[in-house]
Amino acid sequence: MELACLDLEGVLIPEIWIAFAEKTGIEALKATTRDIPDYDVLMRQRLRILEENNLKLPDIQAVIAELSPLEGAVDFVNWLRERFQVVILSDTFYEFAMPLMKQLGHPTLLCHKLEVDDQGRVIDYKLRQPDPKRQAVRAFQLLNYRVLAAGDSYNDTTMLTQAEAGILFHAPQNVIQEFPQFPAVHTYEDLKAAFRQASLRDI
Ligand SMILES: [Mg+2]
Repeated sequence: MELACLDLEGVLIPEIWIAFAEKTGIEALKATTRDIPDYDVLMRQRLRILEENNLKLPDIQAVIAELSPLEGAVDFVNWLRERFQVVILSDTFYEFAMPLMKQLGHPTLLCHKLEVDDQGRVIDYKLRQPDPKRQAVRAFQLLNYRVLAAGDSYNDTTMLTQAEAGILFHAPQNVIQEFPQFPAVHTYEDLKAAFRQASLRDI
């Protein structure tokens, strides 16, 4: 039995923090896991910038509410769900992702939680567990699933390594060069072909 794990931001939806940075004009908020591989360093920086600029969760959610999935993403997810059980493994937060998940038809999402005070200030974040994407793939493998995974960034590479097949999608050149063991594709049609090729079934 085969299961497909997908990253969310950069694969199915825009980078939430980049969209928020553009809206607020705060350049430093544009950093993502593509730029800063250590997620904790990145998140501490983001929380500090939010605090410095007195930006609260509703400000971020207002921007997210205006976002849409990437062009072709909804069709791709539907295609994939007809052929695999699909689980989204993301380093985003439920507080951010839910409006966009609705647009994707509510596939299963495993991600993190924010800690928000009663003023709406984001005071901390709770990672589900260390190395969460890899751990999720490992857990599915213990349930006898063969896992095919696709992601675009540094925080996906342990998931791609753990999976029976890992695919880079929309990845920047530095990630492609550092991880030449993964096929790298840039369109949903090519991503479908990569899933077909990695599958043991005739799909
Ligand atoms: Mg991503």
